[in-house]
Amino acid sequence: IIIIGVLALQGAFIEHIHYLQKLRPHGHTIKAIPIRTLSELQQCQALVIPGGESTVISSIASHTPGLLEGLIDFARDPAKAVWGTCAGMILMADIDGVGGGRKKAVKGWQGIGGMKVWRNLFGGQLESFEASLTIPYISNPTKPFNLIFIRAPAVHSLSQNNQVEIIAQLPENLLPPPPPSDSPLGEPNLQDLGKVWLKKGKKMVTSFHPELSGDVRVHEFWVEKCVLGR
Ligand code: GLN
Repeated sequence: IIIIGVLALQGAFIEHIHYLQKLRPHGHTIKAIPIRTLSELQQCQALVIPGGESTVISSIASHTPGLLEGLIDFARDPAKAVWGTCAGMILMADIDGVGGGRKKAVKGWQGIGGMKVWRNLFGGQLESFEASLTIPYISNPTKPFNLIFIRAPAVHSLSQNNQVEIIAQLPENLLPPPPPSDSPLGEPNLQDLGKVWLKKGKKMVTSFHPELSGDVRVHEFWVEKCVLGR
């Protein structure tokens, strides 16, 4: 049995739990549990940080005894599989690697080392959009996957030689506007803006919401490659 935690402080956590419970990778049973305390976190082999609002998720985590520190340690441990979707991707950025957003600033928890992100770069709620992409790395690869973007962050820049694998990238016509080049994050890398699904070792981030797509193939990929793989 594989115990996977889904951080359940705010946002789209219940959907992740439902999708993960449907999987049976190589005959393993997955038990997906909501995480609200440090002791619950310590029971898990792997963790999903869901979409929602990164300022709210990090604020609640910091008001729960030991939880924020536990999450930061978990995200930085190369042996632990962690997947951040949307707000979760923001929290997987470098500690001083988060820009954008009108609300208060967020500190990253540094799961994908060398990644800076820009919050809400694809626009506000009304600019939410879907994109159907063919992704060669998932099962049934000729069937397009519907990527759902809701106030999504974009990669601001990836450090050089960071061994990040790019699993999916948006076409030119769907790229967000460039973030400002005079922010504390430094110059954005325009080549990185469309990188919406990244993997580095056991860590993965998606700026879209696979748990709202009705399609389990991104969850299946993460369990296969990050939770069970190396
Ligand atoms: N814009 C949100 C944030 O900054 C993320 C949106 C989402 O997770 N759908 O946290």
